[in-house]
Formats: sequence, C-alpha cells, structure tokens
Amino acid sequence: MFVKDPYGIVCIFVTYIAVFYADYVVIRWIILHTMQDSLWGPFHVVSFNTVTLLLVMSHLKAICSDPGVVPLPQTRMDFSDIHTGGSGASDDCEERDDWSVCTRCETYRPPRAHHCRICERCIRRMDHHCPWINNCVGERNQKYFIQFLVYVGVLAIYAISLVIISWVTECPECSNDVTIKQSRILHCVILVLESALFGMFVIAILVDQFQAILGDETAIERLQGGHHHHQHHKSRRALTLLSQVCGRSHPILWLFPCHNPPRYSFRREERLIDHQV
Ligand SMILES: [Zn+2]
Ligand SMILES: [Zn+2]
Repeated sequence: MFVKDPYGIVCIFVTYIAVFYADYVVIRWIILHTMQDSLWGPFHVVSFNTVTLLLVMSHLKAICSDPGVVPLPQTRMDFSDIHTGGSGASDDCEERDDWSVCTRCETYRPPRAHHCRICERCIRRMDHHCPWINNCVGERNQKYFIQFLVYVGVLAIYAISLVIISWVTECPECSNDVTIKQSRILHCVILVLESALFGMFVIAILVDQFQAILGDETAIERLQGGHHHHQHHKSRRALTLLSQVCGRSHPILWLFPCHNPPRYSFRREERLIDHQV
C-alpha cells in the first residue's frame, strides 16, 4: 500500500536528503579531516553508517508496512438500521459490543480502529497519520515508526558529539587552508542545526509515544478524551504494553527492523467481518 499524498512524498525526500547530507558531512568533513591517522576514524565510519542503515531500514519498513487496514466487505452492507436509530445493535452478540461502523468505508470495524482521511481506509489501533513516513501509524507498523524515531535521535546526538570531538581534538598537521577551513565550519554548523532540530523533534514525539503506549491509549483516543476500551488494560505491566506494539520476541530484538511474531490473533476479527457480509 502506498499513499499518494504529495505532502508525504515531499517529507520522505526531505528525510533522505537530511540523512545523506549528515552522512556526507560526518565522513567527508569530520572524520577525514580530524581522525585520518587514528583507529577512531574507521570505527566511527562503521558505526555511523550502521545507525544510518538501521534508520533507513526501519523507515522503509514503516513506509511499506500495512499499518493494519481493516478489510472492506466483499459485498455492500445494508446500513438502513443504523440510519434509523440503531436499536438493532442490542440484538447483536456480546462479542460485537465495541465494534463500530464506518460510513465512509461502509464496513464494520474492530474496537480502537479509526478512519484515516488521507489513507481513505479504517486503520486498526490507529495512532495518527504521519507525513514523514507517508503512512498511518497503526497496530502493525508502530514498532517501525518508533525504531525510526530512536535511530534519528541516536544519529542526531552522535553527529553533534562528533562535531564537538573534532573541534576539541583538532590535529596540528590538519590542513590550514582558509577556504577548506571555512567550508568545514559551514558544513559543521549546518549539521549541528539540522541535528538539533530533528533531534528535539523526535525526542518530543518519542516521549509522547511512550506515554501513550504505557497509558495504553492512542493519540486519537486521547484527543477524544475517553477510554473506549476496557479498564483492565490499565493494570497491565509496562513490558506487556510495550510488547503489544513491539511484538512478543525478546526485548533486544525490538531494536531491529525485523519481523516479530504477531501480537494479536486476527482470526476472530476476520471471522466477524465474514459473518457480517
Ligand atoms: Zn473508514
Ligand atoms: Zn493514514
């Protein structure tokens, strides 16, 4: 699924330009200029590019993954009962209690699913639509979205630290050519500004995301100002709540943009959708 939203496509380009510019400045203007003769040079080249690679991989995963789109029914449903008061809902079986109807998709949707106007579909456990990944953040890709934010934050802090280290440990045999020195200063200033901007931005979103996960509430649910789901969710432990987003594998694996065992059984919901058709 690829969303054709021009704003989102521009944001993806801006992300890649920013990431590759940071990589260029770190290698060409920081490491090559100040760490040529020490083993720190190759070490930082490898580790900076590893974080960059993980960032790009989790970003691509967040862009290309299905965020949890609710399937459309095979045939059109009859919504006349809903438009005339919806008293029929009480006849439904208990399992269907939290299910709601999306009049735009013309389908039943499971609890905590919401309609996204940009994707034009209902998304399970939708958090928000993020132009930076040109996709919704939902049940199935929130993990990749958070990984992407973490790697952007790590890369930003890493880049700023390298600029500081390179100015403190300036080697005497390094080029004293004025034009080279000027362009190095210019690139380093742009890199620090870029890293500070993106770094603060992602740290703010990360704090928000973790508060939401540990409170077991999506951004949309907080905006609507009510817990629409069961209260017993509140007593769940932090690790359980995190595994709801990151998967049931070992927490170490949560850091990597790989596929984890699914955390939900989708079968029950899909069976219910089949029944309604
Ligand atoms: Zn919908
Ligand atoms: Zn969306």
